[in-house]
Amino acid sequence: MRARAGKWSFVSDQRVQQLQRQVRVKEERIIELETENAILHLKLAEYQEVIGKSSREATKYYFLYNEKQHLQRSIHSTLIQLYQVIQKLKQDIKELHSSSLILVRNYQGQYQDCLSGIVAAIQRTQLYNETLQAYQSRAVLLEQSLQEINEQYQIEKQKRKLLHNSLVELKGNIRVHCRIRPLLPFDNELDDPVLQNSSLCEKVIHAVDDETVLVKCNRPGHPLINKTYNFERVYGPAESQRIVFEEMRPLLISLLDGYNVCVMAYGQTGSGKSYTMLGPYSKDEPALPSECHDDLGIIPRAAEELFRLISENPSRSPRVEVSIVEVYNNEIFDLLAKDSSTLVSGVKRDVITSREGKKELLQLTSESVSSAGEFMNLVTGGLQLRAKHPTWVHADSSRSHLVITATLTAAASPGSAASDQMPLKAPSCPSPPPSVRGERPRAARRASSPGPAPVGPAEPLRQAQARLQLVDLAGSECIGASGVTGLARRETSCINRSLAALADVLGALAEHRGHVPYRNSKLTHFLQDSIGGDAKLLVILCVSPCQKSLAETLQCLGFGTRARRVQRGQAKRRGFPASGKPR
Ligand code: ADP
Ligand code: MG
Repeated sequence: MRARAGKWSFVSDQRVQQLQRQVRVKEERIIELETENAILHLKLAEYQEVIGKSSREATKYYFLYNEKQHLQRSIHSTLIQLYQVIQKLKQDIKELHSSSLILVRNYQGQYQDCLSGIVAAIQRTQLYNETLQAYQSRAVLLEQSLQEINEQYQIEKQKRKLLHNSLVELKGNIRVHCRIRPLLPFDNELDDPVLQNSSLCEKVIHAVDDETVLVKCNRPGHPLINKTYNFERVYGPAESQRIVFEEMRPLLISLLDGYNVCVMAYGQTGSGKSYTMLGPYSKDEPALPSECHDDLGIIPRAAEELFRLISENPSRSPRVEVSIVEVYNNEIFDLLAKDSSTLVSGVKRDVITSREGKKELLQLTSESVSSAGEFMNLVTGGLQLRAKHPTWVHADSSRSHLVITATLTAAASPGSAASDQMPLKAPSCPSPPPSVRGERPRAARRASSPGPAPVGPAEPLRQAQARLQLVDLAGSECIGASGVTGLARRETSCINRSLAALADVLGALAEHRGHVPYRNSKLTHFLQDSIGGDAKLLVILCVSPCQKSLAETLQCLGFGTRARRVQRGQAKRRGFPASGKPR
C-alpha cells in the first residue's frame, strides 16, 4: 500500500508538478497577456487621442468646408454680377465706339473745313506780309524823314530860341524859367490822417516839354483844370542842378561883359527855391560840398564859374565884392555887418534915394573876395544869421528874402560912353547908427565902409561896375495854409505883402504905367534896379507837383506869366572890358 501510496504520491507529485508547470505557464501567459493588455491599453489611449484629434480636425474641416461652400456661393454671385457689369461695359463700349465713329466722321468734316480755312488764311497772311513789308519799308522811309524833320525841328527850335532870346533881350523882357520839383516824402505828411494817401498827394503839374507846363486836375467835386503855361525854360522833376545852372550860365558871361544880372527864385515854401539857389548850403547843417557836388545850387556854381571866367582873362580881372542882405519883416538887414563890440549883429539898413533918383543903400557892408571858396565862406556865414521859422508847410522854411550881391569893378573899356560907366562913389551922407533886429539878437559883426573900395580924389581912372544879384525869396504860401500865428503870422503877412508888391511892380511895368510902386516894399525898393532897370533878370518859378499845393502853384505860374509880359527896354552894358564870349 505504501508502494501504492508511494506510487500514488509519485503520480500526484508529478501531477502537481505538471499542474504547477501549467500554472506557471498560465501565470507567465497571464503576465504576457497583462503586458499585452497594458500595451493594448496604451495603444487604445493613443488611438483615442488620435481619434479625439481627428474628430477635432474633422470638425474644423467641416467648418472650413462650410466656409468654402459659402465662399464659392458668394464668388459665384460676384462672378454673375461681374459678368453683368462686363456685359454693360461691353454695351457702353459699343455705344461709345459708334458715337466716336460719328465724332471722327464729324471731325474729319470739320478738319477738312479748317484745313481749307487755314490754307485760305495762309494765302491771306502772305498777302498781308507783302503789304506789311511794303508798309515797313514805307515806315522806314517815314522814320528817316521824321528824323530829318526832327533834326530840322531841333535846329529851328534852337534858332527860334536864339531869336526869342534876342527878342527878350531887345524888349528887355524878364526871362522866366519854371522848375517842377520831384514828389518828396514830406508831400505825404498831411495833418489829417484821413487825407493821407488821398489824391492830395497826386501829381497834377507836369512838364510837357522844355517850354511848357501842364496843370491837369480832375478831382471829383472840383472844377476841371487843364491849362498850359509857357516859359523860356521848363525843368521837369528829373532835371538836375547842373542843367538848371547850365541854362543861366550865359548870364555870367553877360555879367563879365558889363551887364547887371539878377537871378531870383520865386515860389511857395517847400517848392525848392533854396535848393535851386543854394543846394546843400540852404540846410542848417550843410553836408560838405565835396560830398554832394551834384546838389550844389546856382549860387555856389555861379561863384565857381565867375572866378573861372575871370581867370581866363587875368589882365582884365575885375575886383569882386560881395554883400549879403536879408529882407525880414519889411526891414533890410546887412548880414555881413560886423560890430567891434561883438554883442549884436544883423544890422538894419535902409534904402534911400539920392537927388538924381538913384537908389543907394547906406552902410551896406561888402567884402572883397578873390576865389569861389572865399565867396562861399561869406555866404555860409551870412546864411547862419538868416531868419528861419518852421511852418506846417515845410519844417525848414526861410522867413526872409535873401539877396547876395557880387559887384564886379574893373577899369572901364576905352571909348565906352560916360553914361555907361559907374564911377565909384564916396559916402555922400553920414550913416545913421545901425539899428538891430530886436526879435533875434545875433553875434556882433563889424560895420564896414559903405560901397566898394574908395578911389583917390586925383585918380583920373574911370571904373565900371556890373552887378550880379542872386535872390532866394521867402515862401509865397498863404497864412491859412501855413497855420502860423503871432510873430510868425506877422512874418508871413510881411512876406505876402512884399511878394504882392513885387507882383504890383511887375504889373505896373508890364502896363508901362508912369508910376511904378517900388517903394511899397523894402524888397522892391532894394531890387528896383534889377526889376525895373537895365539888368538881365531871370525869375525861376519853383513849384511843387502835388495837388495839395495847386492853389499856390497856380498863383506862382500866374506871377511868372505876368513877369514874362514886362518889357523894360534893352539891357545896358557898363563899359566893361568885354569877355568876347557869346551870350
Ligand atoms: P523853399 O526854399 O522853396 O522853401 P527848399 O529849397 O528848402 O524849399 O526845398 C524843400 C525841400 O525839398 C528841401 O529838403 C530840398 O532839399 C527838397 N527839394 C527841393 N527841390 C528839390 C529837387 N529838385 N530835388 C530834390 N530835392 C528837392
Ligand atoms: Mg527857402
